[in-house]
Amino acid sequence: MKIKAIFVALAGLVILTACSGGVPKQQTEAVQAVQQNIVELEPKEMPASQSISITAIGDVLLHSSIYYDAKTKKGYDFDPMFQDVKPYLDSTILTVANQESIMGGEELGVSTYPTFNSPDEIGNTLKDVGVDVVTMANNHTLDQGEAGVKHAAAQYEKIDMAYTGAYANKEDSEKLTIEKTAEGISVAFLSYTYGTNGIAVPKGKDYLVNLIDKQKIKDDISRAKQQADAVIVSLHFGVEYEDDPNKEQKELAQFAADQGATAVLGCHPHVLQPVEWLTGKEGNRTLVIYSLGNFIAAQEETDRRIGAAFQFDIEKDGKTVTAKSPRMLLTYLSFTDWKHYRIQPMYQLPEMKSDYEAKKKHMAKLAPDLSFIETEVSS
Ligand SMILES: [Zn+2]
Repeated sequence: MKIKAIFVALAGLVILTACSGGVPKQQTEAVQAVQQNIVELEPKEMPASQSISITAIGDVLLHSSIYYDAKTKKGYDFDPMFQDVKPYLDSTILTVANQESIMGGEELGVSTYPTFNSPDEIGNTLKDVGVDVVTMANNHTLDQGEAGVKHAAAQYEKIDMAYTGAYANKEDSEKLTIEKTAEGISVAFLSYTYGTNGIAVPKGKDYLVNLIDKQKIKDDISRAKQQADAVIVSLHFGVEYEDDPNKEQKELAQFAADQGATAVLGCHPHVLQPVEWLTGKEGNRTLVIYSLGNFIAAQEETDRRIGAAFQFDIEKDGKTVTAKSPRMLLTYLSFTDWKHYRIQPMYQLPEMKSDYEAKKKHMAKLAPDLSFIETEVSS
């Protein structure tokens, strides 16, 4: 920005002197001085590093009461449920969501637990609130079989939403999902799940869902590092309703850190689990959140209604790329009689004060530098 402003100012000066006919010596000297200054200033004024901001949200899991609540005459409208948090999701350069209940297509019939099938309209809402990438590898990926994955992939392509972790064919599964930003930082998104609720992956069709497989994760991260500046690994793992990561989650996050992942985003427990910085074997620092919790799911317990918009920066300084400044908006899903669903910034709810303070403490217990977003963001 600074460099551009100097050039504009100089261009103005040249035009001014040109219009005045003969160029007085004094002015010529002034122009030369400015030019010299630019030459001298340029290396110093060039930004030493680039930076982008990222938001990650957890499970978008649409139980029946949520889609009944969104029902309109023509179809479904999930937009109002996200409106209070939209400015926060939209405020970063990139936003990634775990779309857990697959958009399997209307022909298969909309359905709830245990085999979900969500209306296509949820994709449009996510797009509208600023989501750029959805992670698709989770235990519900095969709820609607091969047809479900194919429909979801086609639908995301139709609305120009990037997706990762589940693919319609082998060829697509071999392409990495890389978001290139105007700021000059590219980010690869990888996504894997521990399993698919006992639904077998059709033989010879491994591309339908990425399962957690260390060799595959290692190969994918190494390939992603060659094609992108930063690598974000989403892992669908852990034990449901546990507030803290288990040994396996810790070990897998460390494995991803050792391969050079910039950040690890955990999902599946339906409750939040803490943030932690890990050091990879090359001395790299990897930002981890063990579970992003539910962002929207019809589960009544307080902990399952608390979610997060987890934000951080990715800074590129020469060849070094690191995550920085972890921060979080805690959210709360309010509803009455399984209706009027609304995701709200938790700091704005005085009645939730004690739960809010306890959750803040829990989330930052392994990462004291984690801060909390408690101010309004204009959309
Ligand atoms: Zn799950």
